[in-house]
Amino acid sequence: MNDEQATVGRRQGRWTDFGAMWRATLGRCPNCGGDGVFTSYWGVGDTCPTCGVRFERESGAWLGAWVMAYTVAIVILLIEAGLLIWTFGLFRGLEWVLVVSGIAAVVLCYRPVKGWWLWWMWAAGFITKDGED
Ligand SMILES: [Zn+2]
Repeated sequence: MNDEQATVGRRQGRWTDFGAMWRATLGRCPNCGGDGVFTSYWGVGDTCPTCGVRFERESGAWLGAWVMAYTVAIVILLIEAGLLIWTFGLFRGLEWVLVVSGIAAVVLCYRPVKGWWLWWMWAAGFITKDGED
């Protein structure tokens, strides 16, 4: 087995590395598990301070995380709306309850979803050290 085959084999194992997925969702580096991935509530640093992998290779790398966060928020809202309507029927102000809940869901979901997205990019081989392919 040459180096390239070894690298491909190692990367394929990333898809089933659920420990790395969980760590990344909690805001740690999917590659090494180190702290310091997030530099603010939503902001991810350029590289991991522990192992040095580069997180953002291209602008727009986080577009998928936004799409995922909106999707998760929509699912939460559908469940919430279903439970509210089932329990109380249609009531005055339901739309505002859902608007506020929708905003809160996106704000709260974006960080863990962005961490999960980081794991996805790492598993797909987009997150590597500079100079490593
Ligand atoms: Zn790291």
